[in-house]
Amino acid sequence: MNENGVSEKEIFAFLNYTKTRDTTYERVLSAMCTHPHKIAVEAHMQFIEANLGDFGLFPGTHDLEKEVIRMMGDLMNGPSVHGYVTTGGTESNIQALRAMRNISNIRHPNVVVPESAHFSFDKIADMLEIKIRKAALNPEFKVDMNSVRSLVDEHTIGLVGIAGSTEFGQIDPIKEMSEFAVEKGIFLHVDAAFGGFVIPFLKHPQPYDFALDGVTSIASDPHKMGFSTIPSGGLLFKDPVHLKHLQTHTPYLTVDTQYSLTGTRSGATVAGTYAVMKHLGKEGYQHIVDQCMELTHMIVTGARDIGIEPLIEPVMNVVALDVPDADSVRKRLREEFGWQVSITRQPRALRLVLMPHVTKKNIELFLHDLKTVCDL
Ligand SMILES: *Cc1c(COP(=O)(O)O)cnc(C)c1O
Repeated sequence: MNENGVSEKEIFAFLNYTKTRDTTYERVLSAMCTHPHKIAVEAHMQFIEANLGDFGLFPGTHDLEKEVIRMMGDLMNGPSVHGYVTTGGTESNIQALRAMRNISNIRHPNVVVPESAHFSFDKIADMLEIKIRKAALNPEFKVDMNSVRSLVDEHTIGLVGIAGSTEFGQIDPIKEMSEFAVEKGIFLHVDAAFGGFVIPFLKHPQPYDFALDGVTSIASDPHKMGFSTIPSGGLLFKDPVHLKHLQTHTPYLTVDTQYSLTGTRSGATVAGTYAVMKHLGKEGYQHIVDQCMELTHMIVTGARDIGIEPLIEPVMNVVALDVPDADSVRKRLREEFGWQVSITRQPRALRLVLMPHVTKKNIELFLHDLKTVCDL
């Protein structure tokens, strides 16, 4: 570290330059995050010092958090949910499974997740001494219920369903999973990290939320399609007993217990999330999802015009295009044209996420470049 202080001017000159090296999202078709809404940024700045790790000192911010959880619950047919604002889908998934494990108190517990589950579940397997069993997918990339059934045994404490899979944007048969979870008396966590702010606004929303009896917890990220600032995740439980099983005694704070995974935690993202949810309302999110779905249909139609098919009809604003040698197509799109796209694991297809920063003009440009790269 430098011995003497550096002037503000010099530091900002360097930071300004550094920021030019980061993405502006303009040609990013791979991200599930986007520019946060302006009002979220302003509210975030206003609450920049709020620490919800010691919420006794920040009762105002703590009330905002309760209101965010209440609003998110309302969006998910959970009129009286319990939860907190996490750092994102990963923390929400860890905590949901940790709560399941602590409540169940079964030796050598396992949880059945779809093969399409986000990699956060691999971290969970490594951390929580829970075996993660991966159920096969059907040809539509939804979890196959027969596979789920075959993997459940007396050590199974719960199931995970994905409502908006990271790679395909697919929704698992959550209704069937819910019925099965009720029948078995086990938990069902729904990972709607991406889908939580999309599915309620689709033309044909599929059941995925607390309206289903068996759904015991949901993860939904305001920092993805909720337009809040990073890091903002939501973890919601139907029953407050889950939060109780996450509690740790916290000596030397103004409050006696804490249920979050992190200690010190940002109240700024809570304020950001509160502001943008209030400001947009359901109407605002509806408009955004409509736009993203229009872009999605535009890209699928355009791809079909040049002979490229999607692996499935897109359910939400995530598309997997079946191109030959997807890895090299991806590389050339990036190196020659500056497009950031990603690849699905199995099968390897070009994965695109149509976030609100994507413009119609850029879709046209992208399709043109895709055609060139694929030699069509
Ligand atoms: C993004 C995502 C996650 C992880 O969320 P982070 O906020 O990146 O921790 C988990 N599950 C799904 C389905 C996701 O799309």
